[in-house]
Amino acid sequence: MTMNSVGRPTAPNAAANGAEGFASLTGARGLLQDEPLLFELGGWDKTGVDFDAPDHDASDLGDLVRAAPIGLAGLSEPETMRHYVRLSQKNHAIDLALYPLGSCTMKHNPRLNEKMARLAGFADLHPLQPVSTTQGALELIDRLAHWLKTLTGMPAVAMTPKAGAHGELCGLLCIRAAHEAAGHGHRRRVLVPTSAHGTNPATAAFVGYSVEEIAQTADGRVDLADLEAKLGPDVAAIMVTNPNTCGLFERDVIEIARITHAHGAYFYCDGANFNAIVGKVRPGDLGVDAMHINLHKTFSTPHGGGGPGAGPVVLSAALAPFAPAPWVVHGPDGLTLVEEAKDQAAQAFGRMCAFQGQMGMFVRAYAYMRSHGSDGLRQVAEDAVLNANYIKAMLSAEMTPAFPDGPCMHEALFDDRWLDGTGVSTLDFAKAMIDEGFHPMTMYFPLVVHGAMLIEPTETESKRELDRFCEALLALARAAKAGDAQRFTGAPYLAPLSRLDETLAARKPKLTWRPEHDATPAAE
Ligand SMILES: *Cc1c(COP(=O)(O)O)cnc(C)c1O
Repeated sequence: MTMNSVGRPTAPNAAANGAEGFASLTGARGLLQDEPLLFELGGWDKTGVDFDAPDHDASDLGDLVRAAPIGLAGLSEPETMRHYVRLSQKNHAIDLALYPLGSCTMKHNPRLNEKMARLAGFADLHPLQPVSTTQGALELIDRLAHWLKTLTGMPAVAMTPKAGAHGELCGLLCIRAAHEAAGHGHRRRVLVPTSAHGTNPATAAFVGYSVEEIAQTADGRVDLADLEAKLGPDVAAIMVTNPNTCGLFERDVIEIARITHAHGAYFYCDGANFNAIVGKVRPGDLGVDAMHINLHKTFSTPHGGGGPGAGPVVLSAALAPFAPAPWVVHGPDGLTLVEEAKDQAAQAFGRMCAFQGQMGMFVRAYAYMRSHGSDGLRQVAEDAVLNANYIKAMLSAEMTPAFPDGPCMHEALFDDRWLDGTGVSTLDFAKAMIDEGFHPMTMYFPLVVHGAMLIEPTETESKRELDRFCEALLALARAAKAGDAQRFTGAPYLAPLSRLDETLAARKPKLTWRPEHDATPAAE
């Protein structure tokens, strides 16, 4: 690193760079202060705001009047602001650097989308407003639905599911309803490839199906012979991801659809990787019956810790009648919502959520589509695939690609053969990436690849960012091979916390703050 040399060091500060044995006196790191919990910061005996005493009679509440203080932390506005900004700096964000998680598609969230989603005409609507007052919002949902159907070549779409996994549930519930309507309720098995995302078997089990694995070929695709052997009169559906979780296009996808249909089963396609083929391939042309689209992956809406995702499900003509309410239709007085299971919705299996879905995500996804246009969306797929292949080619200098033959799609998958004999594991390598300023890639997934490292750059990274990333990983790889295992096994050295007891944290999370004198044990 070089800086302006007038009065400033031109070489990095050794201490700031993690020199052995340096610890600040306060626990701070550089300008990042150590941050206590909100409740530890502000006592509830003071308040940061002035409220007038309520003018209504508290006895309105009868027995429900609170007898003791509520215990909220009292902080001034700057204290509150700093608390949350400091917390946000303890974690990584897509706005800080490349976020290479494979399968999760972490791409830049354009600010234009945010601006559109905040327009009062979208953001301030109430879902129970009369439809005559929400025509603009309904039109946006309708237009987004139109583009999702156009891009996938499918005749229908259920807009309301709130995540990919929720979309899988929606798709399988349509499939179950279709089988039951046809008198095929005995079809209770679902076939899922070994490389599938965990949500696929989990969803099938949740719907009450038994799950069976389809084997994979040596080149990372569905084993057709094994699929055909397992199909039968009791199979309800297959769930196949395409491009799959090894970052590969299923070359035999049309044949997969054909034999599945020949056995009376439906083809559920996990569309989480649609960003690799958007504008290039229409899943409807491949024989897909149902597919969720993660708007927060393909169409650049933010991922939100189980929060504001959206997973609309496109449906074939065979499944469309079973789609959940509500949906938008053009009526004599403008747009309206089909809400009840009668007339054209008589076969709808029910609903996926209380209202119309994630409106804010719909606005963001629509803004992304409109700002790219059809040629731009095609380029999204092309650039995502180009970037992944660049990473695959660059990192292959030191690391071992899991499927070296041929190009990959939107993500590059490596195994851990190249770490043999170094004393460094995939986990150690990923932790050392944190010290170099990069969020780790997806690790140990898909399960079919030993010590898997799955890297997805997306189309939003420039060559300069890709080079920075590749140079960091190549330098780490060379250090591992040169015997510098300690750099890895103790990493991260520069993060606010180093290795956690992840099992304890997951099994016994400390979800409630208790005052210090409360000795009830809880995990950190
Ligand atoms: C992300 C993902 C899912 C689940 O989607 P969510 O929106 O996280 O529920 C399912 N399958 C694959 C392949 C994925 O990458």
